[in-house]
Amino acid sequence: MPLLGCIADDFTGATDLASTLVRQGMRAVQVIGVPDGPLPEADAVIVALKSRTIPAAEAVALSLAACEALLAGGARQILFKYCSTFDSTDAGNIGPVAEALLDRLAAGFAIACPAFPTNGRTIYQGHLFVGGHLLNESGMENHPLTPMTDPSLVRVLGRQARRGVGLIPFGVVEQGPAAVRATIARLSEAGRGFAIADALHDGHLFTLGEACAQHALITGGSGIALGLPENFRRAGLLPARDDADALPPAGGLCAVVAGSCSRATLGQIGLARDHVPVLELDALATPDAAALAAQARAWMEGRLDAARPVVIAASAPPDRVAALQDKLGRDAAGALVEEAMAMVAADLVARGVRRLVVAGGETSGAVVQRLGVRALRIGAEIDPGVPWTHATAEAAPEGLHLALKSGNFGARDFFLKAFAA
Ligand code: ADP
Repeated sequence: MPLLGCIADDFTGATDLASTLVRQGMRAVQVIGVPDGPLPEADAVIVALKSRTIPAAEAVALSLAACEALLAGGARQILFKYCSTFDSTDAGNIGPVAEALLDRLAAGFAIACPAFPTNGRTIYQGHLFVGGHLLNESGMENHPLTPMTDPSLVRVLGRQARRGVGLIPFGVVEQGPAAVRATIARLSEAGRGFAIADALHDGHLFTLGEACAQHALITGGSGIALGLPENFRRAGLLPARDDADALPPAGGLCAVVAGSCSRATLGQIGLARDHVPVLELDALATPDAAALAAQARAWMEGRLDAARPVVIAASAPPDRVAALQDKLGRDAAGALVEEAMAMVAADLVARGVRRLVVAGGETSGAVVQRLGVRALRIGAEIDPGVPWTHATAEAAPEGLHLALKSGNFGARDFFLKAFAA
């Protein structure tokens, strides 16, 4: 029965949160979409939604359904996780979802703290900074879906929510959990439903986590989860675990599927060429997903191994990507390659691959969908932000090990290191 139930508004954010909880000693399982059966056995269950930029009413409905499933499974506290740059518009979805959850949980108040100091996201006097820049001068003001043009999160959330939004300033957080609780009590009495909480370093996030031990709802980025496991340990609900990242033993054939064209991934493919078999598919020469998958199927015959991975990549340098986009249109080009890589992944699993690295966020989404992945138990990180996971999937009923790598993550030897342990 989970202690902590989490609702994340996108897939990679859910993994990031799950990894944070594992590092703090909780066993964590990420579930894809609203769970319809019993929850997996874990200290924390993270429901990964794709609700960041859908219409607010749909995001509310999905988030409430996720909340219902988590409560039915026994969760004692709900964490609503959103992006550390507070990606949203005046129409939502952070405010409407947070308010609906507050109503459902009959809670009067929740903090809102997207700070993630390790990645340079800090909050001072309610203003969000990305590195040395205010949010509205960080490039986020040009985001295609959620342009962030106001750095004051008190104002931003204020425009999204019916309830009033206050501030827990840096000076209060600095004094510790008792001072934070006193400020929250004052804000609640004054009729505020939310408060943006300042945080400049991880110590502040631990303080905020401790101060909110009794809150039914907490909202924020993955950083706000840092202090929560300790609350459950202090209450005697969570045993000390040094094996929170333990996964079932890994075996079977190894492979990497890459659909990311990010610089880090291109470098990782380059290094892999000197060490393991690498197939580079040419989507420009063969703009046909089934034909690309057939090329990969023929190539993998006799090459799969349990001691080292094969790498199958559609990744290409910017000029080749642009050429395919000119030919097919941006969306169709992306969809074609995603489709091809999902087929390749399915073929690999059908041939006995049970340790699979996927490079690329969108590519990972396509692969996870094609394999019918329902849940991911989160293991140890290979490199920061990329854990090995153990997946329950229709394509491999006994489970398989998956590592889903955001394009720019990982050191140059990532594809080799992942299988070295
Ligand atoms: P990242 O995490 O690096 O952003 P994604 O998988 O999210 O990687 O996005 C990469 C996108 O580029 C995908 O839609 C993928 O299908 C597409 N893509 C991959 N290879 C090519 C290529 N050779 N030409 C055009 N698009 C490509």
